[in-house]
Amino acid sequence: MKKIPSFLKLDLQKLILILNIICVSCLFIASICIVNYVIKKQLIENSLLTNQKYASKVAISADQYLKNMLQELNYSANIIGKNVSNQKIIQSELHRLKYQSNNFNTVSVIDKNALIKHFEPHHLKFNTNISHRTVGIEQSLKLKKTYISPPYLAISNNLIVLMTQPIFDQHKNYFGMITGSIHLQRKNLINQLLSGSYDYKKSYMYVVDQDNRIIFHPDPTRIGQKIIGNTGLSYMKEHKNGSTHLVNSQGVDNLAGFSHIPSVNWLVVSQQPTEELLEQVNSILLKAAIGIFIFYLLIFLIIWKITHYISSPLHSLAQMAGILNQPETDDKIREINPWYFEVLRFRTALLFSSKKFKDKISELNQHINTDPLTGLFNRRGMDLFISELKKMNSEFALLMIDVDHFKQVNDTYGHNQGDAVLISLAQQIKQNFRENDVCCRLGGEEFVVLVHGAEAHSVYKAAERLRKRMENLHSDNMPNVTISIGIAFYPEDHKDIQEIFKIADNRLYQAKNQGRNQVC
Ligand code: GH3
Ligand code: MG
Ligand code: MG
Repeated sequence: MKKIPSFLKLDLQKLILILNIICVSCLFIASICIVNYVIKKQLIENSLLTNQKYASKVAISADQYLKNMLQELNYSANIIGKNVSNQKIIQSELHRLKYQSNNFNTVSVIDKNALIKHFEPHHLKFNTNISHRTVGIEQSLKLKKTYISPPYLAISNNLIVLMTQPIFDQHKNYFGMITGSIHLQRKNLINQLLSGSYDYKKSYMYVVDQDNRIIFHPDPTRIGQKIIGNTGLSYMKEHKNGSTHLVNSQGVDNLAGFSHIPSVNWLVVSQQPTEELLEQVNSILLKAAIGIFIFYLLIFLIIWKITHYISSPLHSLAQMAGILNQPETDDKIREINPWYFEVLRFRTALLFSSKKFKDKISELNQHINTDPLTGLFNRRGMDLFISELKKMNSEFALLMIDVDHFKQVNDTYGHNQGDAVLISLAQQIKQNFRENDVCCRLGGEEFVVLVHGAEAHSVYKAAERLRKRMENLHSDNMPNVTISIGIAFYPEDHKDIQEIFKIADNRLYQAKNQGRNQVC
């Protein structure tokens, strides 16, 4: 089977980390999308509104100016109408009209035969003897009323808009007209009003007349041209006031606000390239993203810290579960702070299993070191104690106990009775010695007791007591036996344990030889 690399092995902490990363990333992406959407929407709305307001403001002012100009012309037309034969008054009225406000680039009085009778400024060299039938003059003569021309090329070769008022003499006969012209490509009232200091985020403004001809544009070469291919123009002409999204004649997407100048039926458009605006969005978005990122990073760290705090006790408990056999595990489990319900439960359960585990081990150990018939230690158990006593450099006495004529017991009463005698003897041995003394059955009917930390005579007394007990132990359902005991002392008799065994064995034989049922 393929081995999984350790960094890929999932645990609770890694799962929480992954979950945390996924959540925070999703939140971040969602936030950026929302912020992007909101900023774009808001900036576009703002731009449309600003452009509309500006166009409307300009249209209102322009309308007022143009009305004033028509009124000025009308006023002069009245004065001239009353004095059609007085050349001086006409000339001085024209002079006043031109220079008092300087709203018109040129002013003139033209009779019904299209002859220019008077004009200002005076330095212009108009031929007063021929009729000038330009678009504006022709149309005005035809209408005989207030008239504003579309932009056209005048006799002076200037692109102009001509404003005219009819002149009627005292008998209400049509005399001709008074004209005021605005030279679109020179400094004039309209471009002064429109260009202003308006430069908000590359916004610009233009004015078109009712025939879609450009009256004013920041690019002077476009003045007089007809607008073709502007997707918003028909909408703007229809709605007169408002804002719209349009693609202009150059193919550039724009956010436009527009307003109508009622007196001349022109349209003022203020617009901003959409791309220009969206560049701002990107820079705002970048700043917002950095802010949001730092904020979420902080949240990530806090959540990570908290989840680590939550998961670490479980993680530690899981690790402890793998090393229950080690002696220090219990202490380590107890060190884990069970600050919430699940950990408390797991911790208790783990401590419980740890205890059970240890009990099982010690039970197993006991099986290995115990004689199953009598429950005393077997030879293996005895060896463990001897090496322990040697390690501690402890003095001890070794008592070797053997049942007298045990063969006969087996032969007479049977093997089971023999076993019962051994069990009974084991009980007597246990009762006769202290709890700390080590009672063992080496095999057959031979027993050993290790008595440590006791005087030789008291050991002897204890052995004698046991012997007497066995001698006097009479039971109805069990044969009576006597025992012989040989005692050796470590380290007095010998420093070698093997030798101590031999000495005890010899003394036991000595007891047997001297007639049994005695201590040697
Ligand atoms: P002595 O007084 O010289 O010790 O005589 P004895 O008969 O006890 O002689 P020996 O020590 O040689 O005999 C031991 C006998 O103990 C041999 C065997 O039949 C018996 N025996 C050994 N192990 C067991 C046991 O587990 N159960 C029983 N019932 N008898 C055992
Ligand atoms: Mg024997
Ligand atoms: Mg014997």
